[in-house]
Amino acid sequence: MLFSISDYGKIIGMKNDPGILIKGAVRFGEVVDVRIRDGLFSEIAPNLSPLPAENVLDARGMAIVPAFYNLHTHAAMSLMRGYADDMELFKWLNEYVWPFEAKMTGEDIYNGTRLAILEMIKSGTVHFEDMYWFPLDAARAAKEMGIRARIGLLTLSNNSNANKLNRECLERIDEFRGRVKIAYSPHAVYTVNEKTLREVVETSERFGLNIHIHCSETEKEVADCIGEHGLTPTAWLMKLGILRENTLLAHCVHLTDEDIDLIAESGSVAVHVPLSNLKLASGVFPYARIRERGVKVALGTDGCCSSNDLSMFGVMRGAAYLAKGFHNDTTIAPASEIFPSPRARAPWPRESTAVSWKSGKRRTVFL
Ligand SMILES: [Zn+2]
Repeated sequence: MLFSISDYGKIIGMKNDPGILIKGAVRFGEVVDVRIRDGLFSEIAPNLSPLPAENVLDARGMAIVPAFYNLHTHAAMSLMRGYADDMELFKWLNEYVWPFEAKMTGEDIYNGTRLAILEMIKSGTVHFEDMYWFPLDAARAAKEMGIRARIGLLTLSNNSNANKLNRECLERIDEFRGRVKIAYSPHAVYTVNEKTLREVVETSERFGLNIHIHCSETEKEVADCIGEHGLTPTAWLMKLGILRENTLLAHCVHLTDEDIDLIAESGSVAVHVPLSNLKLASGVFPYARIRERGVKVALGTDGCCSSNDLSMFGVMRGAAYLAKGFHNDTTIAPASEIFPSPRARAPWPRESTAVSWKSGKRRTVFL
């Protein structure tokens, strides 16, 4: 059960919130009661007594945990779940995904995004960072369904229609200051040329937008970038100014130690997408080297065409098992690091993991 502390009053439709007492939930292995008053954590302790008129929710046998943030999605790809399985990335993209997407309309994106959001809400995700076509239609779906999102303005060098729709979004920037925001999403170094990447940096700075891009997903991407620019994708993006605080770098599979240091210094976030990397045989995220160098790491599912679902439970399990198997070390990627909890807060992006359990705080949790 998803339970938004901030929306609680609205959920139960009461004008004068009498509060709620969650009884007997398990939090980090301990049974506690949680009192919520005026949309805030009011008291957290064992055996709290109900106050007059307070709603009591029996949560015995349930864990109370922070809700999830999915930091890399192509939400409307939920319409392509199971389409074009079992093939190499560039064949998958060039011969199947992009021809399919060329036929999609804004209405398709709207409906596909709604389907994705339903799946995310049901599996405990309350925020997603998206990168896909028809951003106004994706944003409309997110606004209607109550989830938080940052909708990426997907940018390729040679797609005038997408760029026109992105400009429309920017003209309506004031509509994206609340629960649903926008970001700039140049697709990758192999689809976005230098001129367009420089424009992205300039425009995103002017509008105060985060950047979200695929980075070093395959060996071919890295080899081609070195061949064309004499630099790895990470070093190339650093040179152009894309790498900066809070830029999301999806995948980060094929990184040199110098790349990892650049990411750490820039404050960008390496978004680990383990199940997509496995399905597309892209390679393995270098978990130990990335963590050693203090890079901020977050988790994402990717779109349903490359990961087949949007479950953050699946991603957490995949990230943990993959790192242990790859490094032949059972102590790497422990649950306290993978599962979003205050204990794992320090090296991970605050927004993707932290929930403050202190009185007076307002966070979304689920049972
Ligand atoms: Zn992706």
